[in-house]
Amino acid sequence: MSRRKFQSHSDVPSPVGRVDDILVQSVRVRNRTLNLLARQKFEDLSVQQTRALARRIQRRGRHAIEALFDCLFDESNPGRQRLAVTLLIEMKEAYVQNRIHQLLQRPDLPEHVRVALLAVEALGDASLQASPSIAHLSEISLDSLLQFINSFWESMEIEEIAMMWNESFLREPPPDRLRLIETLMQSARPKMLGIAYIELIYGDTTILQFLAEKLGTFNDPMAVGLLESLLEHPDLIVRTNADRSLARIRQRRALGPPPKSDLLPRDRFYRAYLASEPFSGHYSLVYAVKSPNGLIKFLVALLNRWDRGVTDCWGCVRYTAEDFDELIATMSRDFADLDQSRISKRTALTFLHRAMSLNQHRGHPLPKEFCIWANLFIKDRFTLDPRVPEFGQHCSVCGKPLRIPAHEFPWVVGEQVICPACLRRNVRCAACGGRAKPIDCFLTQAKESGRNFLEIRCPHCFEVFHLPS
Ligand SMILES: [Zn+2]
Ligand SMILES: [Zn+2]
Repeated sequence: MSRRKFQSHSDVPSPVGRVDDILVQSVRVRNRTLNLLARQKFEDLSVQQTRALARRIQRRGRHAIEALFDCLFDESNPGRQRLAVTLLIEMKEAYVQNRIHQLLQRPDLPEHVRVALLAVEALGDASLQASPSIAHLSEISLDSLLQFINSFWESMEIEEIAMMWNESFLREPPPDRLRLIETLMQSARPKMLGIAYIELIYGDTTILQFLAEKLGTFNDPMAVGLLESLLEHPDLIVRTNADRSLARIRQRRALGPPPKSDLLPRDRFYRAYLASEPFSGHYSLVYAVKSPNGLIKFLVALLNRWDRGVTDCWGCVRYTAEDFDELIATMSRDFADLDQSRISKRTALTFLHRAMSLNQHRGHPLPKEFCIWANLFIKDRFTLDPRVPEFGQHCSVCGKPLRIPAHEFPWVVGEQVICPACLRRNVRCAACGGRAKPIDCFLTQAKESGRNFLEIRCPHCFEVFHLPS
């Protein structure tokens, strides 16, 4: 008993001991975080990986976050400095904001740290709302800020930029967004077309007026495609600016080809895979392209043949060929009960385009992520593959477009499809007069003088008769 007492007594540290412990703890956590950062190659991290790393550091608490601020001061290691900025941007928490404000008050703050902190502020989600820094962008060394931001954006693929813009900026008020877009697009760096791409889908008229003019300074052919789509815009200024910009691009082109640095790397089709559950009408399609640097980007789209078209999409960049093979192998294991096969580019594009036009016909908006990742294939020309089934068929019984409620599916019999409503409708047997629902019966497809129709076996008298339409 006395031993227990003694032990519990020793567990209460002296106040001096506690301060020391906290210091030791702080140094340990900081060092561990710095070691963790040293193991990361900034250029190789995808947006998702960066986010995961940011969460990991955040979970370790404030001392770990402080280590990131330490990195901002270390001019000798610009790679780690950039990584720290990127991670701080991902941490949308008050502690980071307060610490930035505190540091910005310091009169002896080195210029490069000031620029880095402002970049975190400008690019961080929460700060855009208050946006004291954006208002001051023109006041402080704009060039160095731009340079800093450039290297930050340059480390991303165009689709990642579009994703980031979509996730972190698109909700901000248009005037704030416009200011940031103007800053980011001062030079016509081709990757910035990722921002234009997403703004053109969802953007505000004032932003589109600016972009319609600005895109005329870009040399990549993608700018031409974007401008052409603006020629149809309801706003007169947008249309006029787009028209002038196209003329400017044509003039420049007449003088000769643009420098390579003005062009986006040309991705080439790599591979495509399809997993399907033929009866449910669901498909999961992988479409991969290879960049000139040998790395692979791909999208995974979920398609619904009956009603919804493209229902979901995600994508990834910077996969090596080995990583990609591994991913496909994992998917084959996960979808072992589905038909999975490698398909040609033409087949994949037919599936994707059929799904997209079904979205359009039935008024289901395309998922935002799909609009971004569609960049991997949307420019490519192809001829329809006749072996790909039709999307958006009509019910063979009632003739109405198939509309399938969640968790239900139609029946497929040969080339005939029957909607859930028709499956539950009572029909009368011609032979015995008994009633039955097709859903409870055995259905077959029959052919007569070149026309397909459905036959149903009566559950009462077992006679087979035509399913009336
Ligand atoms: Zn029907
Ligand atoms: Zn009958």
